[in-house]
Amino acid sequence: MVIVMKPGASEASIEKVAKFVNDSGLTPHISRGTEVTIIGIVGDKSKLNCDNLQIFDDVDKLVPVTESYKLANRKFHPEPTGIKVKNTIIGPDTLTIMAGPCAVENEDQMLLVAEAVKKAGATILRGGAYKPRTSPYSFQGLGEEGLKYMKEASEATGLATISEVISLESIDAAVKYVDMLQIGARNMQNFYLLKEVGRTKLPVLLKRGLSSTIDEWLNAAEYIISEGNPNVILCERGIRTFETATRNTLDISAVPVLKSRTHLPVIVDPSHATGVRGYVEPLAKSAIAAGADGLMIEVHNCPEKALSDGPQSLTFEQFENLTSNIKPYADLVGRSFR
Ligand code: PEP
Ligand code: MN
Repeated sequence: MVIVMKPGASEASIEKVAKFVNDSGLTPHISRGTEVTIIGIVGDKSKLNCDNLQIFDDVDKLVPVTESYKLANRKFHPEPTGIKVKNTIIGPDTLTIMAGPCAVENEDQMLLVAEAVKKAGATILRGGAYKPRTSPYSFQGLGEEGLKYMKEASEATGLATISEVISLESIDAAVKYVDMLQIGARNMQNFYLLKEVGRTKLPVLLKRGLSSTIDEWLNAAEYIISEGNPNVILCERGIRTFETATRNTLDISAVPVLKSRTHLPVIVDPSHATGVRGYVEPLAKSAIAAGADGLMIEVHNCPEKALSDGPQSLTFEQFENLTSNIKPYADLVGRSFR
């Protein structure tokens, strides 16, 4: 952190700030310019609430020089991380495809979808058993029963599985049945929930909040890692903007930005980003080109009868076409899949 004093700041103000920093157990480094004096702070920032320095006389602004997230930060961990989920490694040389219905609806459906997405090249089966729906009257998911169907589908096909958790109770259930936990966009800053998944050993897919900045997102990842679970994968799923032509706006720039700031794998969900099945494939291709480590795609055995997110769900045939059409893109960036 660097404190920039106002032009013409009095010596008394400068000394007062420096003394406060010193008394807090950190070291102030004062450098006096002709117009402006700056004070660098070196040491363990947890000893001092730096924001409070703004209220000292003659302080102009505070400029952070390092990010508040450390464990997720690429500066301290330059090599990209690969995360093992069952037989798959997510990143840095692979393209992992997670696919399945928005919600687990019944046992037969999960078996059917699992076989189809496996055949087309997916290695992780998705399905929501606890659905955080915008309306309380929409289908809320089958709960633990749905997780059992995920496990059965996994046993039948060998696919790994991922499902969203929304509470402590759902975490306790999910760890018994699935290989990976998902934190949905609406819970990205549910810090209590982040800490709880941080106490499990399962890899966690952390979706970006509806209106969250990349910095907030990486701090959310830090919450999970700092509890002892380093296996965090970030998922860009579109953000709220003024545009209404798509459900959300896919922030494709988040992929290279994240790659420069964190060592964690990044995947893209073009299904929730657009809400329109016809836009899923072009955005899947752009995600690969931008450097994504994988994709999450909604696939349904009969989208017109889906209990949630039918319009953005691909049929088996559309999904098969997508996976063969993206293969040259994966080859181009040197990522293996299938
Ligand atoms: C989902 O993946 O099922 C989901 C609800 O997505 P999001 O949290 O990104 O809206
Ligand atoms: Mn969905």
